[in-house]
Amino acid sequence: MSRTVSRRMLAAWLREVGVDYVLRPSPGGETLDDIREELTDCRRCPLCTGRATVVFGAGSPRARLMFIGEGPGSEEDRLGEPFVGAAGKRLDRWIARIGLRREDVYIANIVKCRPPGNRAPLPDEAKACLPYLLRQIRAIRPEILCTLGATALNFLLGVEEKITRVRGTWRERDGVPVLPTYHPAFILRDAAREAEVFGDLDAIASRLRLPPAK
Ligand code: URA
Repeated sequence: MSRTVSRRMLAAWLREVGVDYVLRPSPGGETLDDIREELTDCRRCPLCTGRATVVFGAGSPRARLMFIGEGPGSEEDRLGEPFVGAAGKRLDRWIARIGLRREDVYIANIVKCRPPGNRAPLPDEAKACLPYLLRQIRAIRPEILCTLGATALNFLLGVEEKITRVRGTWRERDGVPVLPTYHPAFILRDAAREAEVFGDLDAIASRLRLPPAK
């Protein structure tokens, strides 16, 4: 049997058992540690001048689900970990809602250094940092990417969408399904919209075939 035919048969079988894409592994089997090492000294954009730490990302290197936020805030910059402030606590609750822990998923941002005054990253900053995020995705090979807020969605996919219009609608980046939802900081300001996030989380849990959370 030729290699192409056996690959096609394997893909058909994977689809049958519920795996509907296979991301090619990182070139040369690159690991998260390889990427992290390259970033420690990053000077690719002006955000490097104001950072205390590079906030690389955190979680399981084999996560099935990866959350992508915008960029580190002051607490994250201080501690070197994404989503550790109030928005992070809310994100933890969302993760728990689908029966997972922070250690089960992977959390990263569009930019890895803190934009001043908590502003959104500028297009040039996002452009400089995006290759790192794409390499992280390739190294982890998650089954689902969940973008948090419009900035994460728009920079990841190179679109200009309004999050209120497109949240909950499946997209794709490099063969990986992407589900946009609201940013937890937005929900902290507008709690009435959290029900929509819960719907998105349910869609993720169902696509991952997660058992109902206790
Ligand atoms: N908001 C983000 O988008 N990312 C973080 O890491 C923290 C807050």
